[in-house]
Amino acid sequence: MYGDDNLSTFGGIWGWNMDPNILHAKMIIEAADAVLVGAGRQLDTAEGVNFMSADMAFLENFEDFHSNYGIGNLSEGITFPFLTDSTHWAFMSKLAHMLYFGATPSKIMLNLARLFANKDYFIVTNSICGHFELVGFDPNRVYETSGSVLGMQCTRGCHNKIYPVGDMVEQMVQQQDDCFVPEELLPVCPVCGGPMRLNLEGMFFVQGTDDEVKQKEFLSFNGRIQNKKLAIIEIGIGQVDIGARMPLMKIATTKTDADYIAVGGNMQNAPSEIEDRFVKIRDNDIERAIRMML
Ligand SMILES: [Zn+2]
Repeated sequence: MYGDDNLSTFGGIWGWNMDPNILHAKMIIEAADAVLVGAGRQLDTAEGVNFMSADMAFLENFEDFHSNYGIGNLSEGITFPFLTDSTHWAFMSKLAHMLYFGATPSKIMLNLARLFANKDYFIVTNSICGHFELVGFDPNRVYETSGSVLGMQCTRGCHNKIYPVGDMVEQMVQQQDDCFVPEELLPVCPVCGGPMRLNLEGMFFVQGTDDEVKQKEFLSFNGRIQNKKLAIIEIGIGQVDIGARMPLMKIATTKTDADYIAVGGNMQNAPSEIEDRFVKIRDNDIERAIRMML
């Protein structure tokens, strides 16, 4: 019964209790040729990124938005109806800087990169942070279901190309004043001349052309794994992230020799089709669970 979560005490002599399911998951990943990864928002939290609280990182970066607009956390800022593109970009450039361009890789992401080193992979994530790319995973094989702070798009949706934000972010962070970015730094659509905004799920969100590239990569991955040993791993997927689980479940039900590991998250019991291949790691500390698998 892979799903059993009795904690073993055999690690007790070293001073910790090891969930035997972590050992089982570790062996599955070691034996796998390829991994299909689904990541939810709990992984952001485990890395120390809090979208819903006014923690130190938020207050250090967004004190001006807090006092001028009453914005209390990252999530409120992302959905705030800023009246001008200048203010929108003042917030979003700081967001992109904090999450990606000025960020150092977290321990958890570095460990995931080690865990999946030398394996074929594809990653589906609801995170907008770009942290898989930050530790070197191929952007074409990281499908971000809610967009990310790395790309921008035409707000009119006149075409669906996603453009990298690149160096623009740092210029905006440095040159903004009292929540305003100088007009000359604001990006315009090269096709219609309209305003551009970050490609984040919400009012202006378009499925970009890079999604087509990623879909091709996913199909190609799907073809390659047919005769390979596949481990499917979801990390921190909860009720709000259910979309990131769908492709994993689809592959799990069709590729009947693939094992399915769930680290944290809200899936307590597996559907009957994959019950005998399901390993549940109930440790709420995702960072520790990943570290123990190395
Ligand atoms: Zn346009």
